[in-house]
Amino acid sequence: MRILILSDIHSNIVALETVLADAGSFDALWCLGDTIGYGPAPNECIELMQQHASVILTGNHDLACLGKISLNDFNPDARRANLWNGAQLKPANREWMLPLQPAQTVDDRYYLVHGSPREPIWEYLLMPSQAIANLEWFHEPICFIGHSHVQFAFRCPNGEDRCERIMPEGNSHITLTSDARYFINPGSVGQPRDHDPRAAYAILDTDKQILTFKRVAYDVQRTQEQMRSYGLPAALIYRLSVGM
Ligand code: ZN
Repeated sequence: MRILILSDIHSNIVALETVLADAGSFDALWCLGDTIGYGPAPNECIELMQQHASVILTGNHDLACLGKISLNDFNPDARRANLWNGAQLKPANREWMLPLQPAQTVDDRYYLVHGSPREPIWEYLLMPSQAIANLEWFHEPICFIGHSHVQFAFRCPNGEDRCERIMPEGNSHITLTSDARYFINPGSVGQPRDHDPRAAYAILDTDKQILTFKRVAYDVQRTQEQMRSYGLPAALIYRLSVGM
């Protein structure tokens, strides 16, 4: 099976459509949450996920837009954008988003979570020490995470108390071997924060156990124009240009 793995779309429909076109055919799509918030097109992004996603998680921004967690947990720009996103939601899309969970196991082999296994909504899992501490919070060999908007992986050899970070270069791939457990972050479709403004995603080949990191340039200015036309915060518009 060829599985398309996305996270942190953040209402960026231009980036999402570009990723879907770039990815080619896939057998399943897993979305690790934060489909909405920040960006200009929440309903369009939800509707594409309704059409394509076989698994979709909820994230902290999704929950804030739905009014399920406090907007006070966000900085003023994120709060304003989440309020705006929440107000745009069609009732049917809101209903569809409400029951989504921040973590889910797939095929007893993959653990999907928005933040981290021990803190599914809020932890930014970026450091090797955090990866080690999180290993006891799930049982599957491979864990997919989102939330930090940084594309990378941790490889944690079985029986050793260490995790090594793997930073992708270009469209690089890693072979997932059975002598280690992994954390994999596909990066963010709609608001990358690793100094590369291109949309990020990943493809998992479950037969060969090969994970490929992908980047694709999208029309950032079009998204920025949409955001400007809705009066969304200037800092959120600017950061898309620089991938931060
Ligand atoms: Zn996010």
